[in-house]
Amino acid sequence: MTGLLDGKALAAKMQAELAEQVQHLQQQVGRPPGLAVLMVGDNPASAAYVRNKEQACERVGIASFGKHFPTQTTQAELEQTIQALNQDERVDGILVQLPLPDHLDSVGLLNQIDPNKDADGLHPTNLGRLVRGEPGLRSCTPAGVMRLLQEYRIDLKGKKAVVIGRSILVGKPLALMLLAEDATVTIAHSRSQDLTAIARDADILVAAVGRTNLITAEMVKPDAVVVDVGINRVVNPETGKGRLVGDVEFESVRDVAAWITPVPGGIGPMTVTMLLDNTVWSYRQRCVAGREK
Ligand code: NAD
Repeated sequence: MTGLLDGKALAAKMQAELAEQVQHLQQQVGRPPGLAVLMVGDNPASAAYVRNKEQACERVGIASFGKHFPTQTTQAELEQTIQALNQDERVDGILVQLPLPDHLDSVGLLNQIDPNKDADGLHPTNLGRLVRGEPGLRSCTPAGVMRLLQEYRIDLKGKKAVVIGRSILVGKPLALMLLAEDATVTIAHSRSQDLTAIARDADILVAAVGRTNLITAEMVKPDAVVVDVGINRVVNPETGKGRLVGDVEFESVRDVAAWITPVPGGIGPMTVTMLLDNTVWSYRQRCVAGREK
């Protein structure tokens, strides 16, 4: 029978553990950990994600220093805000909610964040640490995938892992994390030829594309582990109601795979939890010198 990689349950367990750690640590430090989520404009999906992150912060006792800026905010204003947050002793993590409106340079902004407060792990220093295998803040979605695989004791050593998608946010860092765990890694992308053959070779198959039903049952090796990172909104034409689905055709693939993540309830809650974990990690690094994670 196919097993469900239950990100929602693991996220709840980890958040309860983080809440306990925070309660304990803040007695030593004298303040709670702090996270600043910066959002620009009013993309409804981003607003929902930000709300979700702030509610999760509240659950574990992390103070929120988030700011919501109007669409026309300039690059200079945002850079000034990031500089001020870099200096603010109460803030341990800074995250710029992507995507940004077109007139803003997101890479330029991410580069302004103090690498030790880079809660999303996207600063070149932290990506460099990942490439070198050094400790550092790791990008939340791929770190969430790895934590979920670890929880279910999925063996990666020497296994063939295929990551579909090569973004700096998900695909590339995830490929490096799988490599660090001794998987043999292939990255496929929009220009890859014969995706079916590439995917079917995978012991561990990760889809991070953003295309409904991209992965069908015939693309999955029997007993593979399938991780669905994609988030797509589909609208029922009759009711007009929207719902979230991943990149994997769940109902058919679950008959072939040994393990599969659901959408929702898989990688989404893990991403939020790794953001909290990163913030608490920075807090420890900055305030509780010499303590292990
Ligand atoms: P992106 O658009 O930056 O990258 C998509 C990647 O898919 C690209 O590298 C592209 O080469 C590849 N691709 C596009 N079409 C393809 C095809 N037909 N075949 C193979 N590869 C193809 O997106 P992203 O930021 O990496 O996000 C990917 C998906 O994951 C999106 O659906 C996004 O919403 C979702 N996501 C989910 C979480 C979460 O918390 N669960 C977090 C981040 C992103």
